Amino acid sequence: MNIHELHDAMQAAHDKHRACTSGKNASYIPALAQVDSELFGIAAVTVDGEVLTVGDTDYTFAIESISKAFSLSLAMDLLGASTLRRKVGAEATGEAFNSVIALELHSGKPLNPLVNAGAIATVSLIPGQHSASVWENIMARFTEFAGHELRVMKDVYDSETASNQHNKGIAWLLDSYGYLYNDPMLSVDIYTRMCSLGVTTRDLAVMGACYATHGVNPLTKKRVVRAENVHEILSDMMMEGLYTGSGDWLYANGLPAKSGVGGGIICVVPHQLAMAAFSPPLDSAGNSVRAQLALTDIIRELGLNPLM
Ligand code: GLN
Repeated sequence: MNIHELHDAMQAAHDKHRACTSGKNASYIPALAQVDSELFGIAAVTVDGEVLTVGDTDYTFAIESISKAFSLSLAMDLLGASTLRRKVGAEATGEAFNSVIALELHSGKPLNPLVNAGAIATVSLIPGQHSASVWENIMARFTEFAGHELRVMKDVYDSETASNQHNKGIAWLLDSYGYLYNDPMLSVDIYTRMCSLGVTTRDLAVMGACYATHGVNPLTKKRVVRAENVHEILSDMMMEGLYTGSGDWLYANGLPAKSGVGGGIICVVPHQLAMAAFSPPLDSAGNSVRAQLALTDIIRELGLNPLM
């Protein structure tokens, strides 16, 4: 695939969907409701380290659930994919990202590391008795993926901390069923902090591209995740990356992707590139409307769906 064609497809998708008015910013985390709904950026990073951007790709927003894919890589590298599979699971839940019903239906097993319950359980597996040591481990990994240090957006962290009773409930439930592996409130706090990390669309494309190379950051050339874990992480993304929108996404695109309620989505085309798109208004499953439309157009235009 040629870089100019990729840029043209990104620009065309941006032009076409900029005026889309569907969807609404997440409001259950009050700080996210305040973000300008018009913001819209698309970035791509190839396995050779070419970076392409269109629109608002330097705007910093909360990574939210896209972070789950990166903390998962740390846990997998430390403990092995089979441990994650046993202690967290690797199935689609078929329920919303913060579903308690999904937990109750499966004796408390979270089923997938990319839903809230599974991500909190995954964070609880990262060694460290104190919040600071767990957080340091996580931050070091995120820094390697992004190629620079990310910062917590304090307004988002404060807002999410003040409104995350539901996630706290999930953590206590996990604990009661034996699927939480550290202190429940410590684990939720680390999870919340990780979701509040600020990223740009460009950052996300770089981070996603580390999976396209099977583990090496294409800009820094450093290995950031073990090669043998990448296909499992991408499989989890295919199963659950867009929650109850995962099936529709897969039918259209055939590629692993991960969304966050901050409005970002990353999509990985193994051995070629990763793309990221950002725009705050979400559909009912919690996925950015413009980001899905734009990425789907680009994938179709460039024939990137590996199932077609
Ligand atoms: N921090 C958010 C939450 O726990 C993340 C959800 C998401 O991005 N889907 O609800």
